[in-house]
Amino acid sequence: MVGLVVVGHSRALATAAVALASEMTQGRPLAVEVAAGLDETTFGTDAVAISEAITAADSGDGVVVLMDMGSAVLSAELALEMVDEPDRVILSPAPLVEGLIAAAVAAASGADRHEVADEAANGLAGKQSHFQPESPAEEQRGGTRFKVVNEHGLHARPAARLVTEVRAFDARVELRNATTGSGWVPASSLTRVATLGALQNHELEVRGQGREAAEAVNRVVALAAIGFGDTDAAAANHSHAGGASPGVGIGPAVHLSEKPIELPDAPSQGSDIEWRRLTEALQKTRDEIGRLHSPIFDAHLLLLEDDDLLTDVRARLDRGEPAPQAWSAATTRIADEFDALPDPYLKGRAADVRAVAQQVLRALLKLPPPTLDGDGVLLAADLTPADAAALDPKRIAGVVLASGSPTSHAAILTRTRGIPAVVGAGPRILEIPDGTLVAMDGGTGDVVADPSPGVLAAYREKARQHDERRAEAAQHASAASATGTGVTIDVGANVGSVEDARAAAANGADLAGLVRTEFLFLDRDQAPTVDEQVAVYREIAQALGGRRITLRTLDAGSDKPLPYLPPPTEANPFLGVRGLRHSLTHPEMFAEQLTAIVRVARETPVSIMFPMVTTVDELKAARAMLAEAGDAPGLQVGMMVEVPAAALRAADFIPYVDFFSIGTNDLTQYTLAAERGNAALSNLTAGLDPAVAQLIDHVCRAAGDTVLVSVCGELAGDEEVVPRLIASGVRELSVAPGLVPLVKRAVRAA
Ligand code: PEP
Ligand code: MG
Repeated sequence: MVGLVVVGHSRALATAAVALASEMTQGRPLAVEVAAGLDETTFGTDAVAISEAITAADSGDGVVVLMDMGSAVLSAELALEMVDEPDRVILSPAPLVEGLIAAAVAAASGADRHEVADEAANGLAGKQSHFQPESPAEEQRGGTRFKVVNEHGLHARPAARLVTEVRAFDARVELRNATTGSGWVPASSLTRVATLGALQNHELEVRGQGREAAEAVNRVVALAAIGFGDTDAAAANHSHAGGASPGVGIGPAVHLSEKPIELPDAPSQGSDIEWRRLTEALQKTRDEIGRLHSPIFDAHLLLLEDDDLLTDVRARLDRGEPAPQAWSAATTRIADEFDALPDPYLKGRAADVRAVAQQVLRALLKLPPPTLDGDGVLLAADLTPADAAALDPKRIAGVVLASGSPTSHAAILTRTRGIPAVVGAGPRILEIPDGTLVAMDGGTGDVVADPSPGVLAAYREKARQHDERRAEAAQHASAASATGTGVTIDVGANVGSVEDARAAAANGADLAGLVRTEFLFLDRDQAPTVDEQVAVYREIAQALGGRRITLRTLDAGSDKPLPYLPPPTEANPFLGVRGLRHSLTHPEMFAEQLTAIVRVARETPVSIMFPMVTTVDELKAARAMLAEAGDAPGLQVGMMVEVPAAALRAADFIPYVDFFSIGTNDLTQYTLAAERGNAALSNLTAGLDPAVAQLIDHVCRAAGDTVLVSVCGELAGDEEVVPRLIASGVRELSVAPGLVPLVKRAVRAA
């Protein structure tokens, strides 16, 4: 690959220019060196440093040097006299920033040094044409039309994606802007594409010549439909990396690994039946991907609708192959085709094809999700709640997710497990190879791959301080906590398994303020029986030494669908049949759960609460079913307040409950109309929003001394929010087990 060297007076400027250019290469590596400034802050240029940078950047294909001005140019010329192979070096007269970006895209897609230098030299073309829009239009015909959907038009990042992909085809592809009546430009040149001035809703035409012209044109049109992979959410992924679970994780990168799937021997049941099986699996996969809300998976969705692939599969089914075999053979063919491409970026797409192919096969064969192989820092696009629940804190030092947000269920589960986590770190993290040392801080959201010894030492020190703080808080963890003015606040733990309950006890939890019973229902083929439920609830109570446990009835639906009661396809599952609505629609299963809870409540202190209550009628219906299930002295009955309607009408619910438990995760999501798992909205969903604070105040005022108000959403674990909640009138908090000692400390300080 052609190397690049950036020569300038300011190191900060050069480094930032390199960062900007690297954004444009679609995650593909770039050999770029900076020789700028005399040190971090002193302006100046140094010929020796430049010659060393040239040598470092040259892997045999030569180097293109970009400079700012004055002594940078003179020093670069001087440096040329010091290098061994000056013939391989081109000093580019291009403007530094624009030239570097154009050069970077060309170099990363395998252009030779002359092409790279030409691209750089053309770097100003886009800007020039922008200021001379009256340039003569050529009247041309004959292309395929598509619309630019990107909000900011075909700006640098989507244009870079277009150019990169087009270059991989054996075709000469051209584009013109039909809306402005521009002339044709080669689609293989970023700088020429920039001259199209393509804005949102402009119509472009694409045409091609050569062996793979048709494929190339189709690819461009398909890419255009997904905004060239640059949705706003994709952009936001880069800027909203956030801490999701505190703590420092250091270890080798690990990814979720796919065990090879064995195809069963069953013969075809006829091509129509097999086709239906496949279509259902495709739909299931589409739903699964849709639930992740991540533009990272747009390419996967595209594949599920790929005509070429589906025609091939259909033909195989018609020849008598069963669906798994046909799907597997057809997707392997596509993955192999990607593998054979010389371009490393497109080669990498073979992995995408294999991943989605496996996902469909799993759906087709009703197999469990992939497992984790190896110990270290887990890097993943996102995790389903089931994946996250399976994480073992002894093996996983930390989790870094490309998408997600701090109140997504996956993030909550990492916090419950005490595993440091960062969410919304952007798709680049997926390209960090297995085994690379990664250091991450789940408090700040920082992630470093391959840290220098100094950085590593700093992370180790942070980890030590974190452990020390925890240990200090742990010393007082089992004592009751009261505020400075003597108000006792019970601090409970949110648990999702027996193991969590043990962690809760070890961390001094006063109770289990929220038992997410979903864990018993997800990830299996049928609902647990009454006896099974009784056994597990009992075990949780025992693990907590007989302290009160608050069993929340099943909160299925939305992002936690039950495999054996698949929800109807819902356009907005979070606004759909979830929580109590789901239980009331499946009364038999609900009745069994209520029976199990009542049975346990006869043995040990139990509270029951219903999730996602919206209306008084729903609550009454639930209470009527609970009454059917029998009596248990001491059983406290409560509801979650996580829908704004319920918060606003808190007073109307009071006759039917002993307590309210505010679920700030959902209450925030529904109040701000911002889905909790959507990384692009984490600026809205993180922290205590004033509107949510008002709703909490309102609930507390309505509750007065009649019913207890607890908070079990993630905000209860935020040490800075705790005093505000207590001031509102909240008297119980329930948090991830590992946070209990820290929250108790915050209570004592309040
Ligand atoms: C909440 O919504 O705040 C809550 C505690 O419930 P869950 O996170 O399980 O939806
Ligand atoms: Mg909730």
